[in-house]
Amino acid sequence: MLKRAAIACVAFAFGAALPAAAQEYPARPPVIVVPFSAGGPTDTLTRHLAVAMGAILKQQIIIENVVGAGGTIGAAKVAKAKPDGYTLLVYHIGMATAPALYRRLPFNPANDFEPIGLISDVPMTFIANEKLPPANLKDLIAYVKANKGKISYGNAGLGAASHLCGLLFMSRIDTDLNTVPYKGTGPALAALLGNEIQLMCDQTTNTTGHILSKKVKVYGVTTRTRLGVMPDVPTLSESGLKDFEIAIWHGLYAPKGTPKPIVDRLVASLQAALKDARFVENLAKLATEPVAQERATPAALRAHLKAEMDKWGPIIRKAGVYAD
Ligand code: ASP
Repeated sequence: MLKRAAIACVAFAFGAALPAAAQEYPARPPVIVVPFSAGGPTDTLTRHLAVAMGAILKQQIIIENVVGAGGTIGAAKVAKAKPDGYTLLVYHIGMATAPALYRRLPFNPANDFEPIGLISDVPMTFIANEKLPPANLKDLIAYVKANKGKISYGNAGLGAASHLCGLLFMSRIDTDLNTVPYKGTGPALAALLGNEIQLMCDQTTNTTGHILSKKVKVYGVTTRTRLGVMPDVPTLSESGLKDFEIAIWHGLYAPKGTPKPIVDRLVASLQAALKDARFVENLAKLATEPVAQERATPAALRAHLKAEMDKWGPIIRKAGVYAD
């Protein structure tokens, strides 16, 4: 009898927690923290996702840009947020590179989050201000070497995708560029258009429109094959930087300790959003696509994060780049 009462008590306690946690979720608009500036690639991808997921969750999703330090300030905010499903994070490859780059990282990528799932792998493009003289990648490399110290390369801070792509480029051509960090590649692109900086490597989610309208010069895409929306643009690999391949993966995270029913709800709505026709169409216009459903899961994101940390950690440590 006593046992049964105890069970009833536990069931009551669980039952009382469940409606707030799962059945009513989301009872108010959840916030997705974007750790880079508004108008940049992470922001653009997240805003499309927020519309699609919001329709499925029947709640508007609010975007909050918490910027700085290559995305680590925004990620730290979510790591410390109440784990109730109302504060989420979209972060890219920077989640995997931050531990090697930041000696005092205020969060642990592997332990402080509930991974929800992967979203998209976004190609990058190597672009320049339209006035930069070189016509192709081969000429650009010669020009950069002949004009050491005169050409500025913009990025979104240590560990940002644009930073990693630039590092790879500089190490492949064995020449340093003046690096100018911004709080996102949205403002960096504005600086490039204004010729305050001359070069950038950025996701197609930010650059496709400017490339197609010829507002910027493009030297190549970072994928193995050319992209359908810009078929005339060669790959960096075919232009001489063999195997120069980099695609920027993005994941959705909740703070560690978010109740399982809420995580499950988020996973289901992420997977449904990735199949939403309007979402797919919007991404296609930006030269990217959602990941396959089996990658939009906590297990797939957790495994991918670990593999990427294992891959980038030694490369970054060898390059000796870090922030104190
Ligand atoms: N995705 C950009 C980068 O990492 C930053 C941004 O979204 O603004 O370079």
